[in-house]
Order: sequence, then structure tokens, then C-alpha cells
Amino acid sequence: MNDMTQTSGTLAPSRMAMVPFVSVDDMMRIVNRAGVAETIAAIADRIEADFLRWESFDKTPRIPAHSPDGVIELMPTSDGDRYGFKFVNCHPKNVRTGQQTVVAFGVLADVATGYPILVSEMTILTALRTAAMSVTAAKYLAPKDARVMAVIGSGAQCEFQSLAFHHLLGIEEVRLYDIDRTATEKAARNLAGTGLRIVPCATAEEAIAGAQIITTCTADKQMATILTDNMVGAGVHLNAIGGDCPGKTELHSDILLRSDIFVEYPPQTRVEGEIQQLDPDHPVTELWRVFSGQEPGRRSENQITLFDSVGFATEDFSALCHIHAAARETGFFTDLDMLADPDDPRDLFGMVQRAGGV
Ligand code: NAD
Repeated sequence: MNDMTQTSGTLAPSRMAMVPFVSVDDMMRIVNRAGVAETIAAIADRIEADFLRWESFDKTPRIPAHSPDGVIELMPTSDGDRYGFKFVNCHPKNVRTGQQTVVAFGVLADVATGYPILVSEMTILTALRTAAMSVTAAKYLAPKDARVMAVIGSGAQCEFQSLAFHHLLGIEEVRLYDIDRTATEKAARNLAGTGLRIVPCATAEEAIAGAQIITTCTADKQMATILTDNMVGAGVHLNAIGGDCPGKTELHSDILLRSDIFVEYPPQTRVEGEIQQLDPDHPVTELWRVFSGQEPGRRSENQITLFDSVGFATEDFSALCHIHAAARETGFFTDLDMLADPDDPRDLFGMVQRAGGV
């Protein structure tokens, strides 16, 4: 109830209708208290568990609003008990004016009452969950002895991806390339002391030399060719996260034709992923089927596997559920007075009158 009742000389809403809000500062405190790698591991566990109950989720491709410079998207889902959505953008040109390419926030709500139970920043959380999803897919698809990963694109996602693959998949060396050398220098600085061997590279070709896993996380609003066909050898796992919007891809279509392609949710990936370049009925495997053992992941040493990552609503739902629990455990949140909740549920008008002293 947040009817303004006079108590001890102050007008204070009661805490009953308060919604926990995890700010950017709270998120950083939650993540640093547990550790970045540990947080990614915990989110990865939740993502995998939620993929294993794929049928329980309401699934819909995200809802985009395109403009010449970018896209704003809403990503809703529900498991019947909880409802969640994320607001996220992608504006590659933002970096030129000192702003993020991707920013996000999200909400978790109780389906039984419809009341929100969490509002959270999701820019950091998106990077954590994207790394968690990448590493979960790679667990089933990457060569078992993979020790070297190339990361093409040293922007906001780069270090999260690198750390996740180091801690959860045993990657020992990351080879970094970005068209902007200062971005690679930033990533190399941030990753120093993490136990990873960091090799900054002058070209994408140099970066992929000897890599068993290639992560592409570039941002450009066009059909880009970050990797050409001759750059991808047999046995490699491709973790392609940057092509996630109509007209925005990273891989030459010939690579796709040589790869076994794994996706989150085909109706969304066919529009947004690398496979927008292929026939609409080109065969792909849904990852939930691989996680549940219904379909094989990597089958042979020479196979090229491709996780055509676009990011799906259930992954954000899993991440929000993790943060909901972590915020309560740590106390790192503030209460938001965002639900009008009069003592008498039908007396909304009266609550406004009383607040005005009428
Ligand atoms: P960012 O803008 O911070 O970094 C992108 C980097 O790519 C920049 O440093 C840029 O210089 C570099 N780059 C651009 N073109 C390049 C090229 N041809 N070769 C090498 N480097 C190049 O963006 P970010 O937040 O790191 O996101 C990276 C991409 O990942 C974006 O396209 C974003 O939409 C996507 N993304 C996908 C998911 C998912 O779930 N699949 C989640 C988050 C972000």
C-alpha cells in the first residue's frame, strides 16, 4: 500500500508496493561481490536449466523499431509464474559520440498478480548473459581441446566473452583484433592479470591463426564480412554474436554453407541472424534440443560448428531471475515507489486527493 498516511509527522509510502530496483551501481556491487566469472557461471546454469524446460515458455521473436541508425527492441517472455521483458537498443554509431552501442533495462513480474517484482539495469547484465549463453553453447559445440580463441571486435562484449571462455571452457589464450587499435588496447589492459594470455593482433587473419574458437562481436549496421570463407578452417567453432539485426551480419555466406548451424529460436534468428543470408528453409538445429540430448552437438573433429547468436528473451529472463535472487541476498537494491496502491484498491482517486491535502 502506498496511500500517504501521516505517521510520526512524515508522509511516507509503506514498503508493501515497493519494487526493488537494481541500479548500475547495485549491479556492479552484486557482480563484484560474487566475481564476474562466478556470476557468468551462475547465469549460464540458469540459462541451461531454462532451455531444458523450453516448452514452459511463451516464445515470440522480439519486437523491433528500426531507424536509419539503429534499432530499439522489446523482448518479452513468461514461464507462467513470472513474466519478464528487456528494453534494448543497438546503435553502432553511438560510440563515435561517447555513448554505448547497446544499453538495456528490464522488468520481472509476478504473473499471479501482475505486479512487477524487479526493475533492473541490463546493459551490464546483457554482456554477462551473452557471455553465459555463448559459453553454454560452446560447451556442446566447441572442440574439446580448444585452448585458443580469437575475438574479433574489442568493444563492450569482448572481455566478458574472453573471461567466460577462460573460466568455463579452459581457453588459455585470446587473440584480439579490432579495426580501432585503442579498443584492443583497452581490452588487453582490462584482461591483464586474469590468467589469460592476451595477444593483440594487427589483422583478423593474424587473430584467427591457431584459434579453435572464433568469436565475432563487431558492431556495424551493414552486411559486413568480418570473416571470409578462406579464413575458417575445418574443426573450428564460430561464436558469432554481432550479426543480430536485419541487414547486419558478420560472416560471408559461404562459411554458413560449410557449417552446422545452431540457433536459439529459429523464427527470430532467421530474420536477424547470419542465416538471414540463406534460404528460409536452410536446416538449423535448435540449441534446446542439443542441451536436452535430442540432437547432437559437435559430432566430429573436422566439423565447423556455428552458434548464430542473436540473443533471446528467455536468456534475459534467466539473467533477471538470477539478479532478483542476488539482490535480495546482498541487499544491493533500492525500493522504487512506482506502483500506485491505495489502501482501498478502488479508491485511487481518493489517494490522490488525500496526498493533495484535500
Ligand atoms: P561495441 O560498439 O562496444 O564494440 C564493437 C567493436 O567492433 C568496436 O570496438 C568496433 O571498432 C569493432 N568493429 C567494427 N567493425 C569491425 C570490423 N570490421 N573488424 C573488427 N572490429 C570491428 O559493441 P558491443 O556492445 O561490444 O557489441 C558488439 C556486437 O554484439 C553488436 O553488434 C551487438 O549488437 C552485438 N550483441 C549481440 C548480443 C547477442 O546476444 N547476440 C548481445 C549483445 C550485443
